[in-house]
Amino acid sequence: MAETESGVERRSADIILRGGTVVTMNPTRDVLAPGAVVIQGRDIVAVDSVEAIDAAYEETSVIDCGGHIVMPGLVNAHTHLPMALLRGLADDLRLDVWLYGYILPVEREFVNPEFCFLGTQLACAEMLRGGVTCFADMYYHEEEVAWAAVQAGMRGICGETVMTLPTPNAASYEDALRYCADFVEHWQGHELIVAAPAPHSLYLSPPEILRETTELARQYDVPQLIHISETADEVDECLATTAMRPVRWLEEQGLFESRVLAAHCVHVNSEEIRLLAEYDVGVSHNPTSNLKLASGIAPVAEMLERGVRLGVGTDGSASNNDLDMFEEMRLAALLPKVVRHSPVVVPADEALAMATILGARALHMDHLIGSLEPGKRADIIVVGNNGLHSVPHYDTTGRNVYSQLVYTAKSADVRDVLVNGRMVVRDGHVLTVDAHALTAQAQELAARINRFFVAHERSVLDKLVAIGGLQQHETFEVQAKGVVPDRAAFERGLQSPQVRITSRSSRDQYDTYFMFADPNQGRLRYREDNVMDDAGVVHPIYNLTLTGPAREAEYANSVVLSRSRYTAPADRSLRFYREYFQPVEEHEIIKHRERYHIRYKGVDFAVNLDRIQQPPQEQLFAEVKSRTWSRADAVRKAELIAEIFEILGSQPEDMLRHEYVDLFIER
Ligand SMILES: [Zn+2]
Repeated sequence: MAETESGVERRSADIILRGGTVVTMNPTRDVLAPGAVVIQGRDIVAVDSVEAIDAAYEETSVIDCGGHIVMPGLVNAHTHLPMALLRGLADDLRLDVWLYGYILPVEREFVNPEFCFLGTQLACAEMLRGGVTCFADMYYHEEEVAWAAVQAGMRGICGETVMTLPTPNAASYEDALRYCADFVEHWQGHELIVAAPAPHSLYLSPPEILRETTELARQYDVPQLIHISETADEVDECLATTAMRPVRWLEEQGLFESRVLAAHCVHVNSEEIRLLAEYDVGVSHNPTSNLKLASGIAPVAEMLERGVRLGVGTDGSASNNDLDMFEEMRLAALLPKVVRHSPVVVPADEALAMATILGARALHMDHLIGSLEPGKRADIIVVGNNGLHSVPHYDTTGRNVYSQLVYTAKSADVRDVLVNGRMVVRDGHVLTVDAHALTAQAQELAARINRFFVAHERSVLDKLVAIGGLQQHETFEVQAKGVVPDRAAFERGLQSPQVRITSRSSRDQYDTYFMFADPNQGRLRYREDNVMDDAGVVHPIYNLTLTGPAREAEYANSVVLSRSRYTAPADRSLRFYREYFQPVEEHEIIKHRERYHIRYKGVDFAVNLDRIQQPPQEQLFAEVKSRTWSRADAVRKAELIAEIFEILGSQPEDMLRHEYVDLFIER
């Protein structure tokens, strides 16, 4: 306390942000123009008019905010911070190709503790510079994310991902859960960091995982983070397997017995929105990411009308590509207007609320942050308001300042940032991070990722390996193909005493061949094999086979030794593979195949009788093949194959030297 000339005692303060327009985002949405905010330690102790503050506080450590807007720090409600290092790696791709084809393989190769620390430093520097003071993150090695955030002086929820797929820091979900439990316990009660479990999504985190993460969240009284209904496919799959929509199904799993922060909720219906509101589920709307990946536009207006705790997030830099909350805020105000065909929905003050107080509610942290009120933590930003793009100013509606912030302000307008009472950005410079060194380190790592990526893009085999699931490789087959001049003779041949049929089956095969510019890459065949069982029921099997560029050897009667380098079950769509492998040519062969497994002179062979339907062929064709393992064995089997063709009524002139795709497709 000190005495003024008038004899009134004035209190001391650590920092006073004085002058400027104070946008409080408090329950009555007070705007003080001009106003002042007093900070003592980590807390806001007073928010009032300049006169009132001048009268009550000593003029020490005053920061002049004249011509600026003083407001709560922005809350980024959903992101993947270390992915700042993957910014611009692979863009303009569909979600599955982007995620399974590029992001996951690169993450498997490069994501380690150092990557997460460096990526988070970069992300925190960018966010602080742009006025973001708090985030909700979901990634791996969250211990590193937390340490990097603390060093940068940011507040955040660090969600450790728990899912069925192996992650960069957990070979199994049991490992992920153990790491997560230790992590959550370790950070209990930290001033800036809330450590939390983050089950990835209902498609990667089955009920066993959800039960355990919910238990963990309840035990330590922390929220849990998850992605919900990002795409229409996710909803369709959930409906197909559970007959319930995702939010209903997650309710059934007991997820909402803990405090939840859900990212996206693009495809939620009214019933689900009601549930989200009823269970106080925080939701992060991520407009740029949803637009860029064409996931859809979330029902923002309806969620707000029904009282959902709705914040805004950037999502990771690999799908945004920056962490600019001013952009997200603007889109959060604009998109609902288009959806509702109404310019009056989600006005600027509501969009600003989503990025501040509502975002804090979504993170279940509104008792601490989100507005400028005495007793709350001093997470405050000072935003310039006199740039060429910001002048002139009006005060016609009492809400003009919100329009300035949402429709005209840029993240570069942010001048000062305080988190927990600590000045972390001053005059546009981040004080806690060495931006120069960081940029150099990030570029160095990017160069390594670049080399890996370019090499991977060049090799069809590497790309096939990267998406996983390979079963067999390097199978050698001796085989021959020929015209069947007479079907009756063929059938008689199969019935002859030297041949014993061990099994037979019938199937329709749809083959799509991907050809590449470099023939040394081989060719990739996507096969849908519709096998018909005895009851006439069709069982489709999908696989991918990469065959080498050239046959290994050729014997008499056009018998060839060929090598298929890799076969993998094709668990994704043809569309996925087309977009991922980007062949220069694509050809289709459709055929009906009768397959016989036979024994001839003690050796097993497969005999196929093929009717080519696309492109249509008059003649029938036969293929005889057998697996082999040595050159000598191949020579022996080549002789037997020639004998079998003779028995089936084909002459040497009926034999064919090429694959169907080479014989029947004009190239
Ligand atoms: Zn996400």
